[in-house]
Amino acid sequence: MCIFCQIVEGEIPSYKVYEDEYTLAFLDIAPIADGHVLLIPKHHEQFVEDLPEEIYTALFDSLKGLVNPIQAVFDAPASNIGLNNGPNAGQIIPHVHIHIVPRPKKAGPTLSSSAGRFKPRNKEYFEEIADKIRKEIKR
Ligand code: AMP
Ligand code: ZN
Repeated sequence: MCIFCQIVEGEIPSYKVYEDEYTLAFLDIAPIADGHVLLIPKHHEQFVEDLPEEIYTALFDSLKGLVNPIQAVFDAPASNIGLNNGPNAGQIIPHVHIHIVPRPKKAGPTLSSSAGRFKPRNKEYFEEIADKIRKEIKR
């Protein structure tokens, strides 16, 4: 089972910010910026074009609902939304995932390179951010 399927099954912990029948969103463990979220379909597929229609639609519906709350928490007027679709495009985890990275006015690096990533943070860092995003989604 892939690592994101294990997160869906609850076998690996994650800092969830949103969940519905078809999709799950949680904090990226090596964020490029505060509030870096990964949105995934619960259904395993490596490539976005292979997702069943219903799940594809649900995924992009969730994306639409998440962008504004995530941006609001970090006072960001914009966000980078990315999908690495295959290993040659930098896809490391072979399960469709959309990166949502809020971009405040004073934003850091934009590329998802390991060089631009934060050093590993503690549990409190992730829990505080996940909690803020969850509350904003419910507003
Ligand atoms: P990609 O290069 O598009 O496949 O990105 C995979 C992303 O998954 C990277 O940004 C990683 O930091 C992130 N990641 C890997 N393992 C975990 C995990 N257990 N929980 C949260 N994010 C993860
Ligand atoms: Zn999977």
